[in-house]
Amino acid sequence: MQVISIRDFHKTYEKTVAVRGLSFDVEPGHILGLVGPNGAGKTTTMRAIAGILPPTHGRLLVAGHDVVETPVAAKRELAYVPDDPHLFDALSVWEHLEFIASAYEVADLETAGVSLLEQFELTEKRDAFAHGLSRGMRQKLAIACAYLHNPRAILLDEPLTGLDPRGIRIMRESIKQRAAAGAAVLVSSHLMSLVEGLCTHVLILSSGNQLFFGTIAEARSAYEELGGEASLEDVFFHATEGTRTQSEA
Ligand code: ADP
Repeated sequence: MQVISIRDFHKTYEKTVAVRGLSFDVEPGHILGLVGPNGAGKTTTMRAIAGILPPTHGRLLVAGHDVVETPVAAKRELAYVPDDPHLFDALSVWEHLEFIASAYEVADLETAGVSLLEQFELTEKRDAFAHGLSRGMRQKLAIACAYLHNPRAILLDEPLTGLDPRGIRIMRESIKQRAAAGAAVLVSSHLMSLVEGLCTHVLILSSGNQLFFGTIAEARSAYEELGGEASLEDVFFHATEGTRTQSEA
């Protein structure tokens, strides 16, 4: 079964048409890279799937739950981490995990929490307040909180922002582990090398239009004029600098 299923999603903000007709699925174990120039509609799409922003048109399902009609059921199955995650400055690292555990009724906080702190190298910061954490540590704590309730759908907006090389490696490995354990992951990034190395699928958006959706291998061979084995970066520029959609390619 698809964990994330999007059909004909449109979003208009007053006069701005941000997204026009997105349709895609993410299955358990798949990691979909959402790429596109600034203003393409990536954050709008993630926020709509997370149930924060109502769609203007279309259906968004998470683990079979419609995010508009049954938002609580959908939200229990997902985690969304924005590119500038909100933390509570007056709570410690561990208290963040306690808060999430209580909101999502996580049964075994002690084991899961300790293991996440170890994974993200935050054990020594367990009692530190959020306001004293570096940008990278804040990012890692936000992701640890997102993983705590074992969501089936994980939405990460630019998850590598502010991380050092070691943090980037830890984050990449954690995403792969979650997918291997059966989560469906949607990750937006401007780093084509990251998407190429991490993701199983890619969706290229530009000005709210879906230019390409498929596996990374399909993307590399989608445009004959690129010679069949192009890099994802070549594909990205080729797709976004023209205005062609997949069906026209
Ligand atoms: P991306 O994440 O790919 O950079 P966004 O989803 O943030 O793109 O934005 C898509 C389009 O929607 C842009 O034209 C942006 O200016 C517009 N937009 C985003 N949020 C709002 C908002 N709250 N009100 C009006 N327009 C918005």
